[in-house]
Amino acid sequence: TTSASITPAENSFIKKLKTSGRSLVVFYGSQTGTAEEFAGRLAKEGIRYKLKGMVADPEECDMEELINLKDIPNSLAVFCLATYGEGDPTDNAMEFVDWLKNGDADLNGLNYAVFGLGNKTYEHYNEIALFVDHKLEQLGANRVYECGLGDDDANIEDDFLTWKEKFWPAVCEYFNIEPAAEEFSVRQYKLTEHVNMPAEKVFRGEIARLNAFQNQRPPFDAKNPFLAPVLVNRELHGPSSTRSCMHIEFDINGSKMRYDAGDHLAVYPTNNAELVNKIGEKCQADLDQVISLENTDEESTKKNPFPCPCTYRTALTHYLDITNNPRTHVLKELAEYCSDPADKEKLLKMSSTTPEGKAMFQQWITHENRNIVHILEDIPSCKPALDHLCELLPRLQCRYYSISSSPKLHPTAIHITAVVVEYKTPTGRINRGVTTSWLKEKHPSDPPALVPIFVRKSQFRLPSRTTTPVIMVGPGTGIAPFRAFIQERDVAKREEELQQYVDSGTLILHTAFSREQANKVYVTHLLEQNKDEIWDVIGKKNGHIYVCGDARNMARDVHNILLKVVMEKGNMSELQAADYIKKMDSQKRYSTDVWS
Ligand code: FAD
Repeated sequence: TTSASITPAENSFIKKLKTSGRSLVVFYGSQTGTAEEFAGRLAKEGIRYKLKGMVADPEECDMEELINLKDIPNSLAVFCLATYGEGDPTDNAMEFVDWLKNGDADLNGLNYAVFGLGNKTYEHYNEIALFVDHKLEQLGANRVYECGLGDDDANIEDDFLTWKEKFWPAVCEYFNIEPAAEEFSVRQYKLTEHVNMPAEKVFRGEIARLNAFQNQRPPFDAKNPFLAPVLVNRELHGPSSTRSCMHIEFDINGSKMRYDAGDHLAVYPTNNAELVNKIGEKCQADLDQVISLENTDEESTKKNPFPCPCTYRTALTHYLDITNNPRTHVLKELAEYCSDPADKEKLLKMSSTTPEGKAMFQQWITHENRNIVHILEDIPSCKPALDHLCELLPRLQCRYYSISSSPKLHPTAIHITAVVVEYKTPTGRINRGVTTSWLKEKHPSDPPALVPIFVRKSQFRLPSRTTTPVIMVGPGTGIAPFRAFIQERDVAKREEELQQYVDSGTLILHTAFSREQANKVYVTHLLEQNKDEIWDVIGKKNGHIYVCGDARNMARDVHNILLKVVMEKGNMSELQAADYIKKMDSQKRYSTDVWS
């Protein structure tokens, strides 16, 4: 729209800001919760700078109303936006980004700032934040402070703090605001302890709908996962191996769930009971107490931090992330619960933005890899109120797995291939991956173990013509989606193992077993050795190439080899070859499914 003002809708964020005397709105584009968490911290801190703030989900707002924000004196819109995959916005920011892309709204008078959440291992680093920052300026808005870029591959918390440290003074200068001398912390949620709450009204791990697990109803999705029985859970490594990799099959019969080869399976995990109990002990709390945490801000669309009412045990087991390294604002609030002044000082220092504070956080939290349980163990005088801790910890996220089966061969089952995460930290503790260590114990016993899952669609697809040749590069668990692809191609033969596919001629196989032999062979070596064959497929037969697995090194190396092949075999300059590969990319003949 180009009109000067629009009529506020029922859920108008402008109306909300006005009626509650606020002037700061922080929008988030979040997939895993980090951008939302950062947005919450900024909105909360606003009060110190006389900018009462609120967090808003762009999906739930009419973003065209941004043109009216200037009517509120000293108003500021901040955007915390994550970039995903091939430079994509998060699902909840999709519509907003499309609106900006296509729109020509007049945003004169709008004051804004952007902080991006990205990962440098990926090509399209922070593309969404950079686009929004640039486009808002182009539409006439005033950039109050430069766009911040957070790198999840390094230390995104540090990037955020460093940006924030300069952002607030810039805001104060811009609006001519004198900040309050003291930082003060306010609780966002109010605790109610329930007595005699009927069991059927208490959440037990459901994601959104009460009793959703007792009373399963399709359609199944992120808010309503399907409790899938485990059909098979097989170890793929030999008995002498120190590593563990699982082939798991889930039964989706009767769920009406559909999937395609190349899609991802999302799994909602459960935290380890021993860790949960330790938190209960350290906080001296009754884990079976039924509680509710309710937002003190009645205008907020987020009424509770997680489904309430539930017991503390349920919150710590199903809803809260207790194994990642906590962020600095959590340490700052924990400091208040230390009876020993030295402990308090230590936590405050680590949460500060001084160079020593940051270095200490980097060493004690990041490098020595302490989670909340380790912190409470190593700072014995810190005994936080458990409800406050539950308010501070981020939400436990689902994990994704490349589906390794084809629906053509297995219409009622979904297979995944998952490596068990287990490692020793510098403090001598054994850390176990939440999901993989939990899945390891899920067996097709009688009754079979149940796992909450849903399917997430992907762009990773075989060419529609089954005769188009393809190259697949998938070291380690990167093999997973290719198993599905091969099944697709060989559906008639109903065969499962790679060697049989080779025998049947479906597949020309070059195997690189880098771990199992002294003379290590990597996929990149094999690609180097087979340049003619690669060029035959992609250059002569218009075939496809797929790469799956490690984003950090492998995907980049493969890209470089491909560049070499095109230059050498296609007689092109480096520039022409790069162009050729870009074109393959846009024609979806060069697809990647990579993670770090
Ligand atoms: P978490 O509890 O999440 O712990 C993992 C974290 O522990 C890591 O992020 C890292 O911070 C830390 N960590 C791990 N090892 C070490 C170490 N040695 N030292 C220090 N810190 C360490 N995984 C598969 O196995 N198969 C797949 O097919 C697959 N497909 C994926 C597809 C996509 C699109 C994505 C995004 C991820 C995929 N993954 C896959 C990864 C998977 O989602 C999980 O991240 C993985 O299984 C670990 O989950 P977890 O809950 O067991 O571990």
